Amino acid sequence: MREYNFKEIEKKWQEKWEKDNIFKTENNVNGKENYYVLSMLPYPSGKLHVGHARNYTIGDVISRYKKMKGFNVLQPMGWDSFGLPAENAAIQHGTHPAIWTKSNIENMKRQLKLMGFSYDWEREIASYLPEYYKWNQWFFKRMYEKGLVYKKKSLVNWCPDCQTVLANEQVEDGKCWRHSKTDVIQKELEQWFFKITDYADELLEGHEEIKDGWPEKVLTMQKNWIGKSFGTELSFRVLETNEQLPVFTTRVDTIYGASYLVVAPEHPIVEKILAKNPALKEAVQNMKNTDLIERSAEGREKNGIDTGWKVENPISKELIPLWIADYVLMNYGTGAVMGVPAHDERDNAFAKKYNLPIIPVIEAPEGEDPFGYNGKMINSELINGLSPKEAIEKMGNLVEEMGIGKRTTKFRLKDWGISRQRYWGTPIPALHCEKCGTVLEKDENLPVLLPNDIEFTGNGNPLETSEKFKNATCPCCGGPAKRDTDTMDTFVDSSWYFLRYCDPKNTEQA
Ligand SMILES: [Zn+2]
Ligand SMILES: [Zn+2]
Repeated sequence: MREYNFKEIEKKWQEKWEKDNIFKTENNVNGKENYYVLSMLPYPSGKLHVGHARNYTIGDVISRYKKMKGFNVLQPMGWDSFGLPAENAAIQHGTHPAIWTKSNIENMKRQLKLMGFSYDWEREIASYLPEYYKWNQWFFKRMYEKGLVYKKKSLVNWCPDCQTVLANEQVEDGKCWRHSKTDVIQKELEQWFFKITDYADELLEGHEEIKDGWPEKVLTMQKNWIGKSFGTELSFRVLETNEQLPVFTTRVDTIYGASYLVVAPEHPIVEKILAKNPALKEAVQNMKNTDLIERSAEGREKNGIDTGWKVENPISKELIPLWIADYVLMNYGTGAVMGVPAHDERDNAFAKKYNLPIIPVIEAPEGEDPFGYNGKMINSELINGLSPKEAIEKMGNLVEEMGIGKRTTKFRLKDWGISRQRYWGTPIPALHCEKCGTVLEKDENLPVLLPNDIEFTGNGNPLETSEKFKNATCPCCGGPAKRDTDTMDTFVDSSWYFLRYCDPKNTEQA
């Protein structure tokens, strides 16, 4: 038996494939059905790893099989080549991100070719190239015109020493990756958002189309991520200020069991509380500085601050204490929730920790836990004896009749914050003019190019160091304007790359 001489045999055939250009794919071939095999485009980290080899072999096997079956197969490859590692390398070793990225791409491409994958390299794309990111800017403009892009204030991880925003990956145990003794804080910054919540219902409806074929588990994850919940929004009166504090709940049936009300540390009422009681400032600040993902993590111990204030339950008229707690998030619901410790596990743990009253209002059937929808209402004057579901219905009507709230739908899905205060991404094509306000660059001036006169010191946003970039001309009045120095999240790049492969060289046609 002869040994398989892979060095000789693979080289011979790979050279022949390349010479004959057999993997080039025409858009249409007479008599052949088109078949598109798409694998994820890799981040050019430098070297292929075994995970790449595994992943891309699967795609290649399908590709070759379909080709042999007579299909016109498109199997393209490209590079998801903006992002943090290139910028970190620039900070640490002084190499420009473009040089680092280009040489990584060259090496990984060489390795992919050694594997003999049947890619149509004429369709290769790389998101860091202006001919690609021009279209990110073009999409941004079209979405802005339709009201699907907007600006709002939002929290970011901030290192006071770097004077810069940190990605979650740059925060290690609450400290900066470059300053192991510096606490990372949460800072509010104006940021750009894509209004993906407009599509929440459409996304859910789309599950119907893919339910045959997609794993149940994946669809459930998607549903939970969109997190549509029906509930009631109703207001509690704050005794100290006499204002109404709206609360969202999916369990208005348990309103008689509310023994405290709790707001997020970012809730606007907290400022008023602190004005009256400055001693709470430090504790509130500590809460705000905790990363939001950590704060909402399941099983984490909940922390609270008793404000000393009282609110009035709009149904029972009972006065209950107002707390601030880290497990309440400002960006879900109204940022305020009623605590019903007898019928909610999270509230239960919180009430036990702080000795708050636990008032049962549902009598669950023998052997069942009291956190579900079975049983009947007790200790609830207007709805005693009803099932929880009936009680939700009746209480919803009542709240609307009394004019203290309404039935409403909330989503867990949030708008997508795409602003990054970094260099290595697509520049946001916006400018700030003193006369005209925020304006977008003209289509004919796209792409807004990344400048090269940049210093990578690790302090601040590198784009701020380029005078050439910052100082621009207003596309509306022709006066001086400052260019927006935010760049786009790299997931914008990878949101549409599969379309670009179909027409990879097009520079103009929109
Ligand atoms: Zn730092
Ligand atoms: Zn202007």
